[in-house]
Amino acid sequence: MLATMHQYIDGARRAATSGESFDVLDPSTDETLETLTLAGPADVDAAVASAKAAFGEWSRATPAERAAVLTRAAAVLDERAEELAQLESRQAGKPIRLAREFDVPGTVDNTAFFGAAARRLDGMASGEYSADHTSSIRREPLGVVGSIAPWNYPLQMAAWKVLPAVAAGNTIVLKPAEITPLTALVFAEAFTAAGAPPGVFNVVTGTGAVAGQHLVGHPDVVMTSFTGSTAVGRQVMATAALTGKRVHLELGGKAPFVVFDDADLEAAVHGAVAASLINTGQDCTAATRAIVHRSLYDAFVRGVADLMAAVRMGPTPDPATDLGPLSSRRHLEKVAGMVERARGYARVVTGGAAPTGDLARGCYYAPTLVADVPIGSELWTDEVFGPVLAVVPFDTDDEAIALANDTAYGLAASAWTRDTYRAGRAAREIAAGCVWVNDHIPIISEMPHGGYKHSGFGKDMSAYSFEEYTQVKHVMHDLTGQAHKPWHRTIFTLPG
Ligand code: NAD
Repeated sequence: MLATMHQYIDGARRAATSGESFDVLDPSTDETLETLTLAGPADVDAAVASAKAAFGEWSRATPAERAAVLTRAAAVLDERAEELAQLESRQAGKPIRLAREFDVPGTVDNTAFFGAAARRLDGMASGEYSADHTSSIRREPLGVVGSIAPWNYPLQMAAWKVLPAVAAGNTIVLKPAEITPLTALVFAEAFTAAGAPPGVFNVVTGTGAVAGQHLVGHPDVVMTSFTGSTAVGRQVMATAALTGKRVHLELGGKAPFVVFDDADLEAAVHGAVAASLINTGQDCTAATRAIVHRSLYDAFVRGVADLMAAVRMGPTPDPATDLGPLSSRRHLEKVAGMVERARGYARVVTGGAAPTGDLARGCYYAPTLVADVPIGSELWTDEVFGPVLAVVPFDTDDEAIALANDTAYGLAASAWTRDTYRAGRAAREIAAGCVWVNDHIPIISEMPHGGYKHSGFGKDMSAYSFEEYTQVKHVMHDLTGQAHKPWHRTIFTLPG
């Protein structure tokens, strides 16, 4: 029975009412993992109604009470870590090592972090800014938040959306991507097991066009928090505008990876391979454009190509597997098509093909390095979202920074140099929400994640994310007790 209970509404699993279904596939074999019963508008309405009913109690819970739920949820998630890792690995095609060592522990840590941060919501400044009044600031939650998550890190993206919202006292309806809905349901169960009142955290699993659109347009949802592609993000913003909602968008990326002439070449080569292949390149911060000083260019290309060729594609349950499949056959076709077209204008140094044999059943694509990519070509400007790294040479520092910034996106970047002044200048001048120096990818719960430019606005993770999910209220108390206050004379003067 549980296999058809794909909605999480009012503290329990429920079956959807739409009558529509969708096969969730394991992209490493293309076999059906589960047939999802899709949420329709009525299911979204029920989830929003539950979240709305829960808001009063949850928003008035003390920080300590909310913190206790989140802290216990972290413990429940930790107890279910292996089950979550298996499910995440299968639905998203992640090598089990990645799911066990990155996705699940990252989510547990995030949950624990927001358990602690729930007690540090500032809003206590008070003082006499007018001689006759005391002013104070209250930081308050918004209400029902509708969140929409992508398929690349289903569990972590659910966590990034849900945790700051709920820690701050909002209630939430989360719509995961329809191809990877399963771990979000377990995540919600952990909150109920941890003592979250029914309705605080609901999940509707349905398509973007139906459930997503309905959630964004819902009049009782006060905010839309979206992570996904830039194109859909813009659509979501337009829909949200019709009901005047607050919007937080985490969108695409095309991160530059700048290697200056004094860089540690071995570190840069290893860093580039790890940062371009993480999650099979389906990472919004992945290194996608290596911009390498001409003096190191050939050695960098050789080093990256050799290391990429040594990366092991394999079955996702095997702990020895480095690289899993892409998330779907449709996505594999998109990635392969972009590399095929690049053959016409650039040099495919390694990869550029799907494997044959057993792995051909799944959506695998070999690690791919494309050199001499013309500036302005498709591979330079567009998000591939696959295990594909483009590389170009540069001659001067100014040129390197200009190339790094030659993108509509601005999510993340890295600079590789031993010169601290150069590193400082790169960090200042590259327009991105995160700039790493001599590394690329690490994230931590305490620090914000979010884009510049067309990568969106607003922050996930860290205390900065509370800015998205709270509003501040000014409360002003009269201190005089006078019926006839001195300032009234600017409006009227009484006879005598
Ligand atoms: P997508 O935009 O296709 O879908 C994202 C979500 O939006 C899914 O849940 C989908 O069902 C839903 N959706 C689709 N149409 C909708 C509509 N009209 N109304 C409401 N919801 C709708 O993105 P994807 O392919 O799932 O994910 C990959 C993209 O996400 C990449 O562009 C990647 O860079 C981006 N991403 C960004 C970040 C970040 O933090 N900036 C993190 C992860 C992924």
